[in-house]
Amino acid sequence: MSSCLHCGRTYAKTRATRKYCSSRCKTNACLERHPRRIRAADVEALYALLDEDIPSVSALRERLRSIVAPQRPPIAVAEERPVVIPRLD
Ligand SMILES: [Zn+2]
Repeated sequence: MSSCLHCGRTYAKTRATRKYCSSRCKTNACLERHPRRIRAADVEALYALLDEDIPSVSALRERLRSIVAPQRPPIAVAEERPVVIPRLD
């Protein structure tokens, strides 16, 4: 017996089902897996991001998400508030 890496159900382990209880779980696990490589076009977008002025950390996270994980829900970007720089005179 073994437990499925996708749904956690215990199942009789065979040569054909080494990690997942069914081919459906195997397929679903593959669909949900994070990509191990970044597409060339996305690498270009990441390099472009280095030259951008991003107003806030959440805006930066949203730009990163849109490049590497477009299937994930967008990150809420807080209202832009001007940064107050104290004067030193
Ligand atoms: Zn399963």
